[in-house]
Amino acid sequence: MYSANFDYHRPATIDEAIALLSKHGDDAKLLAGGHSLIPAMKLRLARPRVVVDIARIASLGDIREVGGRIAIGALATHHALESSALVKAKCPLLAETAAVIGDVQVRNKGTIGGSLAHADPAADYPAAILALDAEIEVVGPKGRRTVHAGDFFVDLMQTVLGVDELITEIRVPATARAVAYMKTEQKASGFALAGVAVVAGADGIRIGVTGVAPKAYRAAAAEQALAGQTSPSVETIALAAARVADGVEPLSDIHASASFRVQLAQVNMRRALEKALTRA
Ligand code: FAD
Repeated sequence: MYSANFDYHRPATIDEAIALLSKHGDDAKLLAGGHSLIPAMKLRLARPRVVVDIARIASLGDIREVGGRIAIGALATHHALESSALVKAKCPLLAETAAVIGDVQVRNKGTIGGSLAHADPAADYPAAILALDAEIEVVGPKGRRTVHAGDFFVDLMQTVLGVDELITEIRVPATARAVAYMKTEQKASGFALAGVAVVAGADGIRIGVTGVAPKAYRAAAAEQALAGQTSPSVETIALAAARVADGVEPLSDIHASASFRVQLAQVNMRRALEKALTRA
């Protein structure tokens, strides 16, 4: 199906993009890789009257190291992240996560900023972003603000982004190699039925979960069960994994029932944690 008609703008700078968003409000949508927005427009689930294509704002694609953190431009593609020597060396969790998104075509076009803004409950990055305790840099007409990953996702496909704001950059800490992302994917698309990202550091074990609930979340009860443990036993890991979906209302749809998703999350959490600890 074709999308409804829309006006197309291609701003050259972030300021121009913000000005267009401010002018058109709810009628406008940013376009990055287009791998979520265009299908939604073709299905008429989204009908923006104005499309603001930011794909050619070159500065938004940079990946660089700044003061012990890796700063990733919102337009960095999944392929750029999976193949970046810097990301593989300093934040391997993101490279590992990017590498299992969709297929080659999706990874060549889709961007990290678009994925986070879209906030699909089955998207892969949110689990990693939460486990990494990342910062998301947002710009709007009132200036810049930094949003912590834990505050970014609000509900199913909802974030704290205003209609006139755009993500410019995602900052993640340079981490040791004690990280892992494991998911069980929906076979046709690759989206996560349940995906679990683990970061095991000196300050504790952080666990991000996607695919299970309306929004990605930190598995607080499972993290609590592992508190103070640097090398948890198999039994402790199993007990912690049993709590990976405590406090959330699991999704149920044609792809997986709620109880199956929880079971997959438990298995993936155990496997991800064991893998991360082995790497440590
Ligand atoms: P777009 O489609 O261009 O935009 C998506 C939304 O984000 C729009 O609302 C847009 O306005 C907004 N937006 C874009 N950039 C910004 C920004 N910088 N600031 C604020 N808002 C912004 N994803 C997974 O995680 N795992 C998968 O396995 C997976 N499989 C897929 C399989 C297929 C066949 C397809 C088509 C998609 C799949 N995806 C998967 C989704 C893919 O990763 C998308 O690329 C991603 O969700 C959106 O990124 P995008 O750059 O394409 O964003």
